[in-house]
Amino acid sequence: MTDIVRAYALKPLPALPPTQRWRCDGGCGETLPGVDQIERGSETSPEGDVISSTKMAVWRSACCGQRLFIFDHATGSSTDWSD
Ligand SMILES: [Zn+2]
Repeated sequence: MTDIVRAYALKPLPALPPTQRWRCDGGCGETLPGVDQIERGSETSPEGDVISSTKMAVWRSACCGQRLFIFDHATGSSTDWSD
């Protein structure tokens, strides 16, 4: 099986103002963004064998690989941030 990692550019991380923090969607609280690889699809032969899979780099929480959101301590609001 051949992994094909697409040359997608990672979405640039926004520079957060001092009142905003990255948070983990898994409930861990504050975290940092980390790069993860997700599978975008795979190709299989007529026999059902996986020939290749396409992967893509995305931002996920560094703690446990969940999605990220931004919490603003000044306003108490959360902003989804997905790539
Ligand atoms: Zn987490």
